[in-house]
Amino acid sequence: MAKLIDGKAVSASVRAQVAEEVEQLKQQGVTPGLAVVIVGDDPASRTYVNNKKKACAQTGIYSEEYALPATTTQEELMELIEKLNNKKDINGILVQSPLQDIEIQGKECVVIGRSNIVGKPMAMLLLHNNGTVTICHSKTKNLKEICKRADILVAAVGKPKFVTADMVKPGAVVIDVGMDRDENGKLCGDVDFAEVEKIAGYITPVPGGVGPMTIAMLLRNTLTAARLQNGLSM
Ligand code: NAP
Repeated sequence: MAKLIDGKAVSASVRAQVAEEVEQLKQQGVTPGLAVVIVGDDPASRTYVNNKKKACAQTGIYSEEYALPATTTQEELMELIEKLNNKKDINGILVQSPLQDIEIQGKECVVIGRSNIVGKPMAMLLLHNNGTVTICHSKTKNLKEICKRADILVAAVGKPKFVTADMVKPGAVVIDVGMDRDENGKLCGDVDFAEVEKIAGYITPVPGGVGPMTIAMLLRNTLTAARLQNGLSM
């Protein structure tokens, strides 16, 4: 049975640590600030943004929201980012980009999905951390065989329960980025959790896996940016 990679528990400890460090930073006269930019009215993005603002408030990080209409041009968005870059009370800017670093060494990694927002940056993070990375997509042949080679398998497909047990190497680490709805409208991931957890070494649940970690790492990155921008030690 796979060990659960409990995003809720890990993110809670990151957030507690961040809150403590924010408090220390405030005593040195610096309040970390995050600007969250949302374009359009996608309900999922709205939920992510609300959760991030709430998480900022809970850890003592100052936040501002900029809600732009779906008709916003790239030029207008760049203009806003430029303005935020020069704002003294803002240390980090988020335009919905939910990935974080992980520690791996020489492992065979497979990412299913090649989107600019998840698949590609995820593959680059794995590569940067010395993984040997294969990126799969809808035109990939022998997907099952390729996935089965992976020591670390990342699913970012957007299809409920797409990754089945026969695609997973026994003992593999399975990271599920998917936020999908099953046949009953219930939130689920890209991985068939009930079957895959029987053979994976480690597995992230949905909900409670990748999602909460994206928020915790956003807070940590804002804190780091506030320190760097104020010439304070890490
Ligand atoms: P996306 O832009 O729709 O990309 C899906 C990728 O999966 C594409 O590269 C596509 O290949 C590939 N794919 C589709 N069907 C396939 C198949 N049958 N076999 C192999 N590959 C296939 O989705 P996304 O924005 O990357 O998001 C992926 C999932 O992550 C979604 O469920 C989304 O809700 C979730 N998500 C979660 C978070 C979080 O914080 N947890 C954040 C962002 C997104 P092609 O390129 O060939 O079309």
